[in-house]
Amino acid sequence: MAMSFKLLKNISRVVTFDDSDSIFEKADILINDNEIVEIRKGIEPVEGYEVIDCTDLIALPGFVNTHHHLYQTLFRGIREVQEKPLFPWLVGLYDFWRHITPEAVYYGAMVGFSELLRTGCTTTMDHHYVFPVDKPKNLIDVQIRAASEIGIRFHATRGSMSLGRSGGGLPPDCVVQNEEDILLDSERLIGKYHDKNRFAMQRIALAPCSPFSVSRELLIQSRDLARKKGVMLHTHLAETKDEERFCIEKYGMRPVRLMESLGWIGPDVWFAHVIHINEDEIKVLKGSGIAHCPSSNMKLSSGICPTTDLVEAGVKVGIAVDGSASNDGSNMWEEVRRAYLLNHLRYGTDGLDAYQVLKLATRGGAEVLGRDDIGVLQRGRAADIVLFDLNDIAYSGCHDPLIGLVTCGNTSIVKMTMVNGRVVVKDGRLTTIDTEEMAKKAHEVASDIVKKERQLASEKIW
Ligand SMILES: [Zn+2]
Repeated sequence: MAMSFKLLKNISRVVTFDDSDSIFEKADILINDNEIVEIRKGIEPVEGYEVIDCTDLIALPGFVNTHHHLYQTLFRGIREVQEKPLFPWLVGLYDFWRHITPEAVYYGAMVGFSELLRTGCTTTMDHHYVFPVDKPKNLIDVQIRAASEIGIRFHATRGSMSLGRSGGGLPPDCVVQNEEDILLDSERLIGKYHDKNRFAMQRIALAPCSPFSVSRELLIQSRDLARKKGVMLHTHLAETKDEERFCIEKYGMRPVRLMESLGWIGPDVWFAHVIHINEDEIKVLKGSGIAHCPSSNMKLSSGICPTTDLVEAGVKVGIAVDGSASNDGSNMWEEVRRAYLLNHLRYGTDGLDAYQVLKLATRGGAEVLGRDDIGVLQRGRAADIVLFDLNDIAYSGCHDPLIGLVTCGNTSIVKMTMVNGRVVVKDGRLTTIDTEEMAKKAHEVASDIVKKERQLASEKIW
């Protein structure tokens, strides 16, 4: 590989999240191509280095977003489903989602990736599970193309729904697939895109949607395929009381016990939400990962995730924005602040401090996704770095920048986002796409779908 050196010079504070929790003051970071090679004071540039002045800026590892549904960026602010809890919210939205096309998935992904990158996220996953029966099925391929165009590190999960209304599930039959097709496509995507190498920009995981939209058999077969191929497993779990009732009625078990009985526990498994669990179930989850989604949990009034208890029990915890129909943004920065506040609402003075929450959003998320090459700023890790500028008036009078980053809550402070050694956001703007053009096109595609469904719904009524 060609040698290409970047030197981030005179950073006011480098927060590493390494094993000794090192924080460097007035230090430099030397990057060779996509890898951090040195962090210390006074690295002298030599000829050929690209030197970037970082005076007054704070450096953190890029945030890792552990749960999302990117296509939902096109379905924000739909008035028919506001102020509804999960099940009726989903039922209302499936009717819109049945119209999604590869084009919609592409623009939805670009909108979400843009906002993530602009708020300091360098790695995201996506959980795509809606494959309308009458539409092309290359939706994950399209997302992967979008990720590579914009320059974000991407863990696509092959989501699935196989239990339609006619089989006792929640989604209508027009958005579910048969299980053989799901497994064949899962295997195809792993073969085509999963990169096991260090610094991989794309990986695949398998993600049946939830206990109430797939069969037990699909959970078992996805598990076997994932373990055979060495990819991770993901699903929604213990998000609502409705889900708990569904599992008890259908399987005679609460959600965590159901997953345990299916062998869906361990370092290669992570769950979104995990709210309605008891002390014994927390112990069962030791070693597995969870994606904590504070905004979504508040908006859908799902409940509060027991974050401190999970961390103390040895569960890997990351932070996530969740899909934009329940958030309604992909603002990773805001999510970090809400994770902090929601933890304090539940635990009071025993809560996590600002540093601990930042660590969950970076190193924690990397661990949840099974990666030891990102999430920490140190020699040998990928150059996924975010630089913040706290000179804005929103931070004047704040006496500890690390606390202020989390608690002051201004979200327009990302000066630079670097992914795999490449500057993708500079002075708050994306360098890889025409954001205005993308926004316009995405909104057109979204409006067409929503108009179409509203038209169909009005015909049905009248
Ligand atoms: Zn979700």
